[in-house]
Amino acid sequence: MSEQNSQYPLHIAELIDRIGRLTRELQFVHGLNPAQWETLRFLKRANGQSRTPGCLAEFLCATKGTTSQTVISLENKGLLQRCKDPKDKRKVTLHLTEKGREMLCHDPLRKIEDMVRDMEPTINAALTLGLAQILHQLQEAIGARTFGTCKRCTSFRCRSQHPEKQDVCGLTGQPIGEGDNQRVCINFSHGKDCHPFLPEDLEPVLSRQE
Ligand code: SF4
Repeated sequence: MSEQNSQYPLHIAELIDRIGRLTRELQFVHGLNPAQWETLRFLKRANGQSRTPGCLAEFLCATKGTTSQTVISLENKGLLQRCKDPKDKRKVTLHLTEKGREMLCHDPLRKIEDMVRDMEPTINAALTLGLAQILHQLQEAIGARTFGTCKRCTSFRCRSQHPEKQDVCGLTGQPIGEGDNQRVCINFSHGKDCHPFLPEDLEPVLSRQE
């Protein structure tokens, strides 16, 4: 490691910790707490097989009991709905209500989004790449699930390989609808050197580095 590069690791670790702390503070608004905001965001982005209380607990890295309290409180506020699966009565799925979707228009993380939008595109690309790599390594280190989308999943079967020209999930055998391949999935399985959280337009930058 060069002398200049050796200054960065501790500084970056401290910045991430500080930003995480302040971002948490930002999310005690509109009568919700950070876990409740994260739940609303998760339900907006998750695919069908991931919108269950168990998957939510894994995404939040929380216990089932704590997650259940979060779900009950959002349900009491009319922001989400619990529905029984008609095919399997023991299975419960979670859905955002219209009020929940409207609440997401006031998502406090938009403040950070606005700050980032005003930054240089090259800084944004480098930040995304670096933060995605840190997140990926951290998830591996603590054994947390790596949620990701179909296009980077090793179970994804592209329509060109399918007789009916339909994208299919190789794990469940179910067709993947338009838009669903952009949603995060608990069963995502990443290949070697895959960075699940990178937007697709950063792939060329990444491949130039490898
Ligand atoms: S292909 Fe992978 S990410 Fe997509 S639904 Fe199947 S398991 Fe989930």
